[in-house]
Amino acid sequence: MPHTPHPPAPRFRARGRRRLRAAALLASAVSVCLVAASAPPTPLGVGDRLFPHLGNPGYDVAAYDLSFTYSGSNTEPLRAVTTIDARTTADLDRVNLDFAHGKVDSVEVDGEPAGFATAGEDLVITPEDALDEGEWTRITVRHTSDPVYPEDREGGWVRTADGLAMANQADVAHLVFPCNDHPSDKASFTFRVTAPDGLTAVANGLPAGVDRTGGTTTWTYRTAHPMATELAQVSIGRSTVLHRTGPHGLPVRDVVPTEHRAALEPWLAKTPGQIAWMEEKVGRYPFETYGLLMADATTGFELETQTLSLFERELFTEPGYPKWYVESIMVHELAHQWFGNSVGPATWSDLWLNEGHATWYEALYAQETADKPLEARMKAAYGASDGWRAKGGPPAAPKPPTSGSKTGIFRANVYDGAALVLYALRQEIGRPAFERLERAWVTRHRDGTATTADFVRLASETAGRDLGDFFQGWLYGEKTPPMPGHPDWKPTPAPAQAGGA
Ligand SMILES: [Zn+2]
Repeated sequence: MPHTPHPPAPRFRARGRRRLRAAALLASAVSVCLVAASAPPTPLGVGDRLFPHLGNPGYDVAAYDLSFTYSGSNTEPLRAVTTIDARTTADLDRVNLDFAHGKVDSVEVDGEPAGFATAGEDLVITPEDALDEGEWTRITVRHTSDPVYPEDREGGWVRTADGLAMANQADVAHLVFPCNDHPSDKASFTFRVTAPDGLTAVANGLPAGVDRTGGTTTWTYRTAHPMATELAQVSIGRSTVLHRTGPHGLPVRDVVPTEHRAALEPWLAKTPGQIAWMEEKVGRYPFETYGLLMADATTGFELETQTLSLFERELFTEPGYPKWYVESIMVHELAHQWFGNSVGPATWSDLWLNEGHATWYEALYAQETADKPLEARMKAAYGASDGWRAKGGPPAAPKPPTSGSKTGIFRANVYDGAALVLYALRQEIGRPAFERLERAWVTRHRDGTATTADFVRLASETAGRDLGDFFQGWLYGEKTPPMPGHPDWKPTPAPAQAGGA
């Protein structure tokens, strides 16, 4: 949704005075609120086809203020306070948040104690007074945030050699903090991280203060653009923050384990040039800053957390990875800042718009800088595409994640399988129209969310003809349509390997 300005401080509602009296009566027995509830608390969702339990109806979060206190040990729960400013979009007797892993100590709604209970992966809050549609409300939850997970449910927090990082995509932000955990509800974020001296904390956005008191430091960061919960990042570790300047004065900052600083520098020096390359393709970088967070951890993936992409340090220090490959993965996460972050998916079935575009620019960069022809990669993808569709579903209608599967919905069908759709589109409408479309897409939906239907509509508008039938086959077909301009390309029986992150 479009950027929502920071709301004014919540005002007391008309029934404020009655509410204050009621709260005084209940001050010593908050649990009474639970008894007063008329029906058992129920987990809710926004109806995402792939993750039905994610998100909640009835409100729109404008701002999160997340406060974490870190003990110095990454196996101990952090103490946390999450404050949410939201506007109701319906009358609500209860407010559901997604939260499934920490312990909740207390909940306040507009400054007064509220009842709370757990239902499924929801924290169900019962305010003393029901909320009316169209009101601002402030919800404060005091809780723990536990970086240790059961084997069948991975975080959230990523435990590194020297602290913590965050990897919330797709459905695990609510293992870290209470939230409306769906990409359709973007909000502004403030992070306040308190850690023992000797550790450095960094989060999305720009610094907004450092307070040192009695052996601990509190680091505050704030985002200038709305962000989805899945893209939140908090790094705590023995880190050095390196600063450099990108195109038109863009501040670039990287967060690296101090002991690996020298080895990582030649890679980090490439970022400004990569940003300039992306800007040539699609226009101005959409955020206030960019940089890489080099985590000393084995994650098996890299992640485009907004303004500060998460990378495994080993990707850069293990000699086994070819240089061109590492650089193309850097561009993949950078491209996500436009495709996936600034223009977010309205639902998780729109994931192909994120990964297809990121893979497209990853491959295009490899072609232009390392002589790795895009056409050869696309021909290989064409050969494998029917197999990917059979396994993961067509690009815009992916199969639901199987429970316990680490790959989830992130399968080849939405990486090279979706980049192949973009290649087919370029073949169909020609390079100039395709390049205009890409620029128009990130401009029109900047700081918002968009659907597959929005992309089909804009592509048709840009090409000057209805592309509905073309996209129907390419995005939803069980079989891959013939490739325009390459009648000789055929599916191959053996499944091919796809890169991606
Ligand atoms: Zn990606």
